[in-house]
Formats: sequence, C-alpha cells, structure tokens
Amino acid sequence: MDAIKIKAPAKINLSIDVVGKRYDGYHLLRMINQSIDLMDTVTVSLGEFDGVVIECEDERVPKDERNTVYKACRAFFAHTGREPVGVRVEIEKEIPIEAGLAGGSADAAAVLVALNHLLETGLSVEELCGIGEKVGADVPFCIQGGTAFVEGIGEVLSPLPPLPKCYFVVSKPDLSIRTADCFRAFDGEGISRRPDIDKITAAVIAGEIGEMASSMCNVLEEVGHYEQIESLKALMLREDALGAVMSGSGSAVVSVFEDKGDAKRCVRELEAAGYADTFLCKPVEYGCTIK
Ligand code: ATP
Repeated sequence: MDAIKIKAPAKINLSIDVVGKRYDGYHLLRMINQSIDLMDTVTVSLGEFDGVVIECEDERVPKDERNTVYKACRAFFAHTGREPVGVRVEIEKEIPIEAGLAGGSADAAAVLVALNHLLETGLSVEELCGIGEKVGADVPFCIQGGTAFVEGIGEVLSPLPPLPKCYFVVSKPDLSIRTADCFRAFDGEGISRRPDIDKITAAVIAGEIGEMASSMCNVLEEVGHYEQIESLKALMLREDALGAVMSGSGSAVVSVFEDKGDAKRCVRELEAAGYADTFLCKPVEYGCTIK
C-alpha cells in the first residue's frame, strides 16, 4: 500500500495556565486538552514526487516548507535515517486556521502516523511523539489524543479518563491570533484569574461535566482582552452553556453542554448573530487515526 487517509482531530483546551519559561524561551504550561470530532482529512501518498508535494484548497495554508506537514516529513526522515522518498500530502481542511485548535499540529501528527505506517518503520507512539515535539508543541497531543493533563511545553502527557457524554459548541470569531504573538505578549503580570488545574482535573476524573465547565479558565485570554472573545463567551453563556473558555491562544471559544438540544440552539443563535465558523462537536477518545 502506498497511500493512506488519516483523520486528524482538532484539539481544544479546557484550561491553560502558564507556569514559567524554559531555557530556550518557550513557555511552560499546565493544560487540560481534549480531542474533538472536528477533523481535517490528510491523505499521504508515496511515489515519484519531487520531495514533499502539498495540496490544499485553502489558500491561507502554505504549500511549501512553512507547512507543518513539510516539517513533519523532514523530521521523520532525519530521525529514522531513512532515505527521503517522494511524499504527496493532500489536506482537506475542516479545522479553522489561527483558531487555537491546533489544525497545523493535527496535520503534522497525521503525517508522522502515516509515514510510520507506509514505510513500516515500526516506531512506537512515544517515539512518534518525540519527533512531533520538534515540529510543534501540540503535535504529541495530536498524535495521542483523547483527554489529557498536559505539561512542559506540551510534550508531557498524562492521559485522563474519557469524558462522559457532552457537547462542545466551538466558534471562531472574525479575529485571527498568531500563537507566537500571543505568547510573546504574555508577561504573567496582572493576571486576575488563574485556573485551578487540580480542581478541573478532579472534575474530569469524576466525570462531573458541570463542575469541569464552571472551572474552565485560560490565562492567555488576558493577553489581548479581545472584545470579540468576551462577546462570544457572553452569548454562549446566555444560551445556557455550562461554561465557556478561549481555546489555546485563540481566537476560537469553546462552550460545554450536557443537553444536545441546548447545544443545537446555541449553534443556531450564534449563526444567526453572524458567527459563520461555528461547530457542534463531541469529544473523541483518540488522536490521529488510520481511516
Ligand atoms: P495552535 O493551536 O497549534 O497554535 P492554530 O490553530 O493557532 O494552532 P494553525 O491553524 O495551526 O494555528 O496555523 C497557524 C499558521 O500556520 C497559519 O497561519 C498557516 O499559515 C500556518 N500553517 C502551516 N501549516 C499549516 C497547516 N497544515 N494547516 C494550517 N495552517 C498551517
């Protein structure tokens, strides 16, 4: 077989705290991450291609060495010592870009899983995560997926039990935030509310969705104090969301529901208010899987 299709789930953060800085300037985090059924589809083929050929209909996605899938291919061949072969990667994008939903990282994770399978390199998930970490901080989580307590810059994963049945309404306002800009602006001063990560972890373990939702908090929200994010959160809470929080460095906002009818109504209201990029999602228990 020389082609494979992988589903690459988006990541949401149910909470993020920044607890320090690493020697190289990367911020050290404590987060609760969750994979959701909003997914890109990544098809990887091996053949007589000129290096890494990237195809994606979305014009905002770079098709050259700036793409995370290009970096993933390069890191894979460097790690395994295999002679690089021609690789074609077709990305069907569903995950909004610059949303804090790890779309680029999910695509990179999919390519690592695909190359390991197609080239029969037999790398363990841990080894793939080690390669992924060099490509991007969210890549290890995107490989493993599910529900996890995540530390370090994103590479230290402690799996948590799957969430009980619940729904997420995920919506990206008309605002794009670059992850690097957000972290550069974060100085940790004057943060008015920090998440209690231990409390939310306990709620996740106990399957207490209401307690989890009301404990959600992302310190990065205070970097830009974006009015669009505050309005979106307020709208979701007005529609009976159990909690609402910005994901990653934004700009997507995630709200939690136990009742599907409430979640659907929230989606309708957001769409009516002009939020075109709105999705009704469920948690999934896996990362990049082979279709
Ligand atoms: P994260 O949560 O990991 O910070 P994000 O959702 O904020 O991710 P992405 O959608 O991953 O951000 O993309 C950020 C930038 O990376 C885009 O502006 C785009 O130019 C570039 N990029 C590189 N590779 C990809 C890819 N495969 N898919 C989407 N964007 C990509």
